[in-house]
Amino acid sequence: MSRYADQPWLQFFTEEQRAETPYPPSVLHGFLAAAQARPEHRALAYFDGGLTYGELDALSDGLARHLAARGFAPGDRLAVMLQNVPQFVVALLAAWKAGGAVVPVNPMYRRQELAHVLTDADAAALVCSERAWQDYVRATAASSPVRIALTACELDLQTRDDPRVLTPGRLPADDAQDLLAAARAAAGPRPDVPLPAAGDTALVSYTSGTSGRPKGALNTHGNISYNAHRQVRIHELPPDAVIFALAPLFHITGMVCQLSAALAGGHTAALAYRFEPGVVLDAFREHRPAYTVGPATAFMALLARPDATAEDFASFKLISSGGAPLPPAVVESFRARSGGLYLANGYGLTECTAPCASVPPGYEAPVDPVSGTLAVGVPGPGTMVRILDDDGAELPFGEAGEIAVSGPMVVPGYWRQPAESDAAIPGGELHTGDIGFMDTDGWLYVVDRKKDMISASGFKVWPREVEDVLYTHPAVREAAVVGVPDAYRGESVKAYVSLRPGAAAEPGELIAYCKERLAAYKYPRQVEVLAELPKTATGKILRRELKAAAG
Ligand code: AMP
Repeated sequence: MSRYADQPWLQFFTEEQRAETPYPPSVLHGFLAAAQARPEHRALAYFDGGLTYGELDALSDGLARHLAARGFAPGDRLAVMLQNVPQFVVALLAAWKAGGAVVPVNPMYRRQELAHVLTDADAAALVCSERAWQDYVRATAASSPVRIALTACELDLQTRDDPRVLTPGRLPADDAQDLLAAARAAAGPRPDVPLPAAGDTALVSYTSGTSGRPKGALNTHGNISYNAHRQVRIHELPPDAVIFALAPLFHITGMVCQLSAALAGGHTAALAYRFEPGVVLDAFREHRPAYTVGPATAFMALLARPDATAEDFASFKLISSGGAPLPPAVVESFRARSGGLYLANGYGLTECTAPCASVPPGYEAPVDPVSGTLAVGVPGPGTMVRILDDDGAELPFGEAGEIAVSGPMVVPGYWRQPAESDAAIPGGELHTGDIGFMDTDGWLYVVDRKKDMISASGFKVWPREVEDVLYTHPAVREAAVVGVPDAYRGESVKAYVSLRPGAAAEPGELIAYCKERLAAYKYPRQVEVLAELPKTATGKILRRELKAAAG
């Protein structure tokens, strides 16, 4: 019998928590109940504006009608390429009400990256900012399956126009309708489409996963509902709690732990466009949130603000760090600066719809005395975590191997990738590609990544994607990209290249070349030109050797 099957982590949960009360099939069910019960209650706070549950319900009904009238059918996909603005949420709920799924797209994506996602996801509709539409999205969408184009302006639904994050000026387009105008024009009861079932696809979330080009993880309504309700229940958030959306909504952590948790529980989600430490502190002061989740780098940036005081954090019941390694030193400096708040680690992946391990309420994660690694948490009741060797055999407690997860939050597979799905999620158990171990009490530690993914400020960078861009430069012969330690970002991207005979290229030129073609967090911050890159006997470039030399 499996040792992990004994689930030692259950000791951290009460009988009631272990019983896991059933949760609704979708977050939309919880949202509709909240909108009916408290239509005047604020669903979204956005600077000095926002939307009530009633307004959000009516706008998303209207947008669902707009989409349906233009041929958006159940099962279709709406790509949402927005920062944390209220229109993101209107679009999400509208797609679900129309029976479709949302493809969250990072607004930092450049043309090539966006083209891949729109085409691969076969997106029927798209919403982006007015500026992005004018800049390059219009041209990219033209050669994609997108038939319905919408824009959203970040200046809407507020009047403060905070110059630290919002750019003045509107840029309406003739060939893409404003989302709010479209929703208002089509106002009326939502389309006659059944509410989502737990097994229906809610999101197609692009992730580099364990290998290759970004693939769409199929987060079901049941996956999201489980993790969203779990956040609300386990943290015992009161009905009037405000959840601050520190993490971007286009990433699974923000989408599930913040937005979906707020909508599922009838709470208020506070949005502040994008992460800017001064704006975030002001929002804490204004909205007095009870809960937020973000990467460790965001908390470091907040702590670095000389004006941050313990009073700014006094409204928090709990703060979680997720999506990237959390150094124990950050937990301690955060505690000291915030007036005693504990920064709770949490571990998850896009493929497990955000967290699959977190620190149970009332406990603190231990630090492994040997490696100095902070535990990421324990699995929840109903979740199974095992540590496997390279052959898939279970390793004993304390031994490091691949983390494998099964439970109600694990996606059934990737969009149109049956072989990749079977390889990564055999029998419904997600092989995470992360190396970790579990102690006998059930605390999980993530020690390394099996995959070569780079984590720059919590954003994941897939080296091959950067290498592919470098290989398009006429002077580049070979390229290898690795993550190098960076005191602020956690890791930053470094490229090694060798040049074609007779060709010349300066590192600065290659950096500029990548910067033009890749999102800001992906382009290499350093480029080193070598005569030859180290390779295996079969000619494979040895990224790991370069990483060791660089680190
Ligand atoms: P994503 O799918 O973008 O959420 O990335 C998931 C990856 O982030 C995981 O496979 C881990 O490598 C990393 N990760 C997430 N949470 C943690 C954590 N608490 N500690 C260390 N690494 C983490």
